[in-house]
Amino acid sequence: MSMPQPKPWLLDIAPYVGGEAEIKGVDRVIKLASNEGAFGPSPKALDAIRKTADQAYRYPDGDSTKLRRKIAEKYNLDVDRIIAGAGSDDLIQLLCRCYAGPGDEVLFTAHAFAMYPIYASTTGTALVAAPEFNITADVDALVERANDKTKLLFLANPNNPTGTYLPADEIRRLREKLPEHVLLVLDGAYAEYVNRNDYDVGADMVTPDGNVVMLRTFSKIYGLGGLRAGWGYFSEKTADVINRVRSPFNISNIAQAAATAALDDDEFVEKSRRHNEEWRRWTSEKLQALGITVPESICNFVLARFPEEPGKNAEAADAFLKSRGIIVRRMGGYGLPDSLRISIGLEDEMRLVVDTLTEFMEA
Ligand SMILES: *Cc1c(COP(=O)(O)O)cnc(C)c1O
Repeated sequence: MSMPQPKPWLLDIAPYVGGEAEIKGVDRVIKLASNEGAFGPSPKALDAIRKTADQAYRYPDGDSTKLRRKIAEKYNLDVDRIIAGAGSDDLIQLLCRCYAGPGDEVLFTAHAFAMYPIYASTTGTALVAAPEFNITADVDALVERANDKTKLLFLANPNNPTGTYLPADEIRRLREKLPEHVLLVLDGAYAEYVNRNDYDVGADMVTPDGNVVMLRTFSKIYGLGGLRAGWGYFSEKTADVINRVRSPFNISNIAQAAATAALDDDEFVEKSRRHNEEWRRWTSEKLQALGITVPESICNFVLARFPEEPGKNAEAADAFLKSRGIIVRRMGGYGLPDSLRISIGLEDEMRLVVDTLTEFMEA
């Protein structure tokens, strides 16, 4: 008997492992594993969720019209080239499906966001990781690895999990040096947290007839990860392709309403950004003083790099934190087995993490 067979490349994919949410036997768990935003959802978004809950029986507007108009207005973009997705994950997957397949290559950096290789693998394409320099994307290393087969280059700027970024002039240099047929995807998942003069999320590079895409999410500073809402900005041709392939109702009416309202909540965003800067600086300094290396992050998390000594390494630190009810993220799957990624949470959460790691390092 011959049984149904999946596409052979699918069985090589290691399923995505998300941040844990529970620890057996611990009542109060502190979860700093998924960069979800310290303050929960924006109050304006929560209000919109309550107000639209009774519309759950209605199919959503398949074009997310109000949300896309709000985005266009806020960022001064062409509404016809904006596409909403069920998180930016949805759009990453769509880009892979539409542009890559067997015989092609998809390019990203050595410590790239895990969903790029996962979604790319579903298409049967080959994966190519370019080395980084100082755990930061390296334009020349990326350009060297681009060839006739390369279809997509995914670059999170700033990057998760390293927290590092490339300045605007380096991004422009990357686009200039890359072959024109390579679609450059700039993922700005953490853009709202950034406060640097030389940073640019790249919206201006997404021209109507060009080869750059920008992705954004409501899962980080807006605190709406559970609802699944994100968006992208595309060229005319790429938007047309993605709109043909995406699910017609890919973002729920409640998520659309919440995201639209969140975009009006500048006060919440400003408060989140200020809190994040203060506690990221504080946490980084405290950890460095303990002998843990923390590369400078411009995101809502830090990468904590532990010494190699047994008993003081990342694995032991993770176990110790967990025994105290604190969940952070192991980074072995990202090629950083010496590191833990710690999201910036509330003040008492950060104090507890630092106190616990102080006890761990000084034991
Ligand atoms: C969190 C994250 C995303 C987005 O996730 P969604 O919840 O699917 O919008 C995208 N890219 C990077 C680099 C991220 O860290």
